Amino acid sequence: MTVRTRFAPSPTGSLHIGGARTAIFNCLFARHAGGSFVLRIEDTDQTRSTQESIDEILDAMEWLGLNWDEGPFRQSERLDIYREHAEKLLESGKAYRCFVTPEELQDRRKEAQERGGVFRYDRKWAEENAGPDKPYAIRLLTPDEGTIEVDDALRGKVSFEATEIEDFVILKMDGFPTYNFAVVIDDATMEITNVIRGDDHLINTPRQALIYGALSLEMPQMAHVSMILGPDGKRLSKRHGATSVTDYRAEGYLPEAVVNYLVRLGWSFGDQEIFSLDELVEKFTLDNVGKSAAVFNPEKLEWLNSHYLRSKPPEKIAGLLIPLLNEKGIHSEVDEKLVKIVRELTQRAKTLNDIADSLDYFYTDQITYEDKADNKFFKPEILPVLEDITQGLTSLEDFTIENMKEVFERVMAERELKLGKIAQPVRVALTGGTVSPGIFEVMDILGKDEVLDRLNKAVSHISAK
Ligand code: GLU
Repeated sequence: MTVRTRFAPSPTGSLHIGGARTAIFNCLFARHAGGSFVLRIEDTDQTRSTQESIDEILDAMEWLGLNWDEGPFRQSERLDIYREHAEKLLESGKAYRCFVTPEELQDRRKEAQERGGVFRYDRKWAEENAGPDKPYAIRLLTPDEGTIEVDDALRGKVSFEATEIEDFVILKMDGFPTYNFAVVIDDATMEITNVIRGDDHLINTPRQALIYGALSLEMPQMAHVSMILGPDGKRLSKRHGATSVTDYRAEGYLPEAVVNYLVRLGWSFGDQEIFSLDELVEKFTLDNVGKSAAVFNPEKLEWLNSHYLRSKPPEKIAGLLIPLLNEKGIHSEVDEKLVKIVRELTQRAKTLNDIADSLDYFYTDQITYEDKADNKFFKPEILPVLEDITQGLTSLEDFTIENMKEVFERVMAERELKLGKIAQPVRVALTGGTVSPGIFEVMDILGKDEVLDRLNKAVSHISAK
């Protein structure tokens, strides 16, 4: 049997990282088995589903590199299919029409509450108000006793008491299926063989099992993965910071890092931390998915992101930076200068945004000196040193790092100064601050004319103090 998995987001918001992990697991599971990965949009909740969410989810999936083989199917376009199956259940007597209106149910719920009891739907109300033109919902006739057993790939046999489950609606009065019914009909008609999803769906599983049973369909192999927790041990939520894939993208994370990070939340392969997508496809099985809840660790995601920033070709990173630079008003192409900057800045950056935020001085013709740096390093006694350096650099025919170093060494020897004493004022002159890549690399990137221009400006600035 060909393996078929699916990812079935409800488009009521952005793609949460828990959802993204589910998508990744399903995609990898299908790829590992040479099967297919189906994308289905569960948009039957018409009040909460939006086209904006659908677009954002699809965009996030594409960005993560989670290509689907079929879909996106939309439940709202499959209403006939659900109705057809619900009718089948009516005919076989496994479901019945229920004429109780939502208002009546609400009243009964209120009554029960006032009596201090728990509301339970009572089958005997079902046909009460029957009349030829009355609208009706369709409810599944559920067993009154016994246990419902589901075989979960990660949890083994999970049992549920039938008494816990009342006859539930499968098709609502407005013709829309309920969530559980749509999921089952879709998984069955799309021939899904394996369902991997968050364990928040475990409570739905017995209802779904009953629908499969009533339709004499085989349930796919279920696997309920433990939730992701925040660093405080509580279920990951907005309180913990960025929680959507779009947020991480906007913060300058790379898709490789996000995928690598999320897959490791619950899945492991020995001590290995870094996996390419190909490697994940080769190695991913449910055997290595843990049972306990994984804890979200932002530092580890940062660490992985730094790794990918350094290991991806700098030309690629430069390309990813272009839109960020445009936003800042820096209009560059992927040229030699930007590639050199990337090569230097990726050594310490955690995100693309870190890089974009620390390269302004390479692209300005007006350096502003940080006050603290200005006061500390631009003292009168540094003037002759800066003048020597400027003169030495001016005379260089070949503005290579090697030749620049020679100029510095000569001045250091003549003035009996250590490199730090010279490099810091030069850095302030060239960048305006005290933090930058190596001073020779900065000069190499700026080029001779710009370096001399900035040094001369610093000299005038200090002289005018
Ligand atoms: N639509 C559901 C959700 O977004 C998923 C349903 C399922 O995986 O069975 O949570």
